[in-house]
Amino acid sequence: MDVHTSEQRSRNMAAIKAGNTGPEMRVRSLLHSLGYRYRLHRKELPGKPDVVLVKHRTVIFVHGCFWHCHECRWGRVIPKTRPEFWSKKRAGNVGRDVRHKAALEQAGWKVITIWECETRSQDEIRRVLNQAGLRMAK
Ligand SMILES: [Zn+2]
Repeated sequence: MDVHTSEQRSRNMAAIKAGNTGPEMRVRSLLHSLGYRYRLHRKELPGKPDVVLVKHRTVIFVHGCFWHCHECRWGRVIPKTRPEFWSKKRAGNVGRDVRHKAALEQAGWKVITIWECETRSQDEIRRVLNQAGLRMAK
């Protein structure tokens, strides 16, 4: 099953190339509107987290469901072409995610993961952040 239309796919690829993906931008704009100060992609931190809330000692990863094997319908997609290549590649991502999270937590960081499928509305992003224990100022 392939859930992406070719139009969606080229949009996704453009976003990936640009480095600032739609879901990540939506998370950042919510945090910004709530008055959070953050840094981006700190290279010295394991996994180069997408958003770093230094004051709250919290990092946020915004993960693509396909690339990081989310337990949702997009995360369970198996590509028709080169399925073994993709499953290896994605398993590698998941393994790295686990190691990065452990290293960050060991260093005293709170780690929040927001999945692409949870970023469709600001309310949903806010709910995930609340559930993760990040205090929403407003
Ligand atoms: Zn998902």
